[in-house]
Amino acid sequence: MKVVLLNYTKDPDQICAAAAQSCYSEKGASELFRTTTDEKAKKMIKKVVGMGHLSVTEHAYFTFSVEGVSRSLTHQLVRHRIASYSQQSQRYVSMDKAMYVIPPAIASDPEARMLYTKSMDEVWKVYRKLAKKVEKEDARYVLPNACHTNITVTMNARELWHFFSLRCCRRAQWEIRMMAWKMLVEAKKAAPILFENAGPGCYRGPCPEGEYACGEPYEKGEVPTDDELIVESSRADD
Ligand SMILES: Cc1cc2nc3c(=O)[nH]c(=O)nc-3n(C[C@H](O)[C@H](O)[C@H](O)COP(=O)(O)OP(=O)(O)OC[C@H]3O[C@@H](n4cnc5c(N)ncnc54)[C@H](O)[C@@H]3O)c2cc1C
Repeated sequence: MKVVLLNYTKDPDQICAAAAQSCYSEKGASELFRTTTDEKAKKMIKKVVGMGHLSVTEHAYFTFSVEGVSRSLTHQLVRHRIASYSQQSQRYVSMDKAMYVIPPAIASDPEARMLYTKSMDEVWKVYRKLAKKVEKEDARYVLPNACHTNITVTMNARELWHFFSLRCCRRAQWEIRMMAWKMLVEAKKAAPILFENAGPGCYRGPCPEGEYACGEPYEKGEVPTDDELIVESSRADD
């Protein structure tokens, strides 16, 4: 899995802070933006976000390229509606590279792994045969959820906050959780003030999942190790 922050609104913390300040000032955001120090921005964002005045965080956009993930992951991702997506098409791109994700529980169990890889080899044998007879768009119907895909996703800071709360949580499935953590690490580098407290709900207090709480809350600021963020992929045999 590769997650790259491709682009984002220039000076995201300062833009949102100036927009927030403009609600309470005679001055316009253009002047406020020029005079907004990091300290002022931090104070302003903390104040308005604390008041639930979250729309000011919609002025900052972040575009990520997510590569080599499963279609199971992207099906979960695109449920988040306040975002823009562009996904690799199985109608126009041949899936002949035969790359797929192996869930850790399957990768670590020799018998499950053998069954899994055998079925992937079989699926791609059929895909290749079908793709010679019919269009890719029809041959793809045999492909599994595990099939690799690439997707470009753009969210504003408000939606990212919401996304991180739900998807960095241990209740989210491992693959989208890994992706969400990688996105959070990058977003924090780009906008340390906006994302200071962003992350799973347990970063900020009691678990919002109530009776479904996992019982292993993250410490505030804790990030999974690089080893935990690795997702295994393989290639079906010819
Ligand atoms: C652990 C977990 C398990 C899940 N299990 C399932 C499952 O079994 N089945 C299933 O179908 N889904 C499941 N989901 C997906 C979940 O139900 C949501 O569809 C997904 O997380 C998107 O979140 P959202 O709707 O809050 O936010 P987004 O689509 O990201 O929207 C952000 C916010 O905008 C507002 N909003 C957006 N659209 C509307 C609207 N039309 N009307 C009013 N307000 C709106 C809401 O406040 C929303 O929270 C699961 C999600 C998680 C994290």
